[in-house]
Amino acid sequence: MSLVDAHAHLTDKRFTGDLPAVLERATAQGVTRILTCGEDVASSTEALALDHPVLRFAAGIHPHRAASCDAAALARLRLLAADPRVVAIGEIGIDLSGLSAPVDAQERAFAAQLDLAASLGLPVVVHVRDAGDAARRIVDAARSRGMAVRGQLHCYSEGPREVAGWLARGFTLSFSGTVTYPKSDALRAAAREVPADRLLAETDAPYLAPQPVRGQRNEPAFVAHTLAAIAVLRGADSGALAVQLAANAAALFGPRWR
Ligand SMILES: [Zn+2]
Ligand SMILES: [Zn+2]
Repeated sequence: MSLVDAHAHLTDKRFTGDLPAVLERATAQGVTRILTCGEDVASSTEALALDHPVLRFAAGIHPHRAASCDAAALARLRLLAADPRVVAIGEIGIDLSGLSAPVDAQERAFAAQLDLAASLGLPVVVHVRDAGDAARRIVDAARSRGMAVRGQLHCYSEGPREVAGWLARGFTLSFSGTVTYPKSDALRAAAREVPADRLLAETDAPYLAPQPVRGQRNEPAFVAHTLAAIAVLRGADSGALAVQLAANAAALFGPRWR
């Protein structure tokens, strides 16, 4: 089984004490790649000090940290992206669920990092919470500026109706442990809608552990539970689905992923 965890945060302080054991459990489970995502310049820089063959990286500024996205920060991200293990700019996006940063700062940071990724020829890793319309509008504006936008929409959280709009905008849809939760019927309907070649599974570790380990600290090995749940709801064989999702990640993240 060749599993991919398409989105995690391994610099989170909850991994400080035992990251080697976490990575050991992941590889023992068959995980061959983990994308660990930055949330600001500091965490993106810190992540690159991690040295393990299973790891690939996204460098970026999360919407919660949007106020820190100035010209100096963008220049730092550009330097970090020169590391051949950096496969994407992320995570970036819009989050209107808690208003942890002003909306205008979030929109500016998202737009600037879409442009940065396009100028580097890299995909983006995008976080959208309670902000689908705003995020799609900003992606459309980038596309109309001539920017080639493609990437991962991580922890998909809208319904089946919004799937087509994201596919048309160049996104591959990544489902986290939330797709296994009893109340997530709309999410499961969405996961059935996504074409097999535009689908990913992720942990978003240390957050959002799937059933049946919900409530624990999440870790990359647990992506196996999410993949198995997606296989069941799509009527797919889990081994074949794992092969497909590994190929999808390689197609999206390109030569640096392999
Ligand atoms: Zn996120
Ligand atoms: Zn994340």
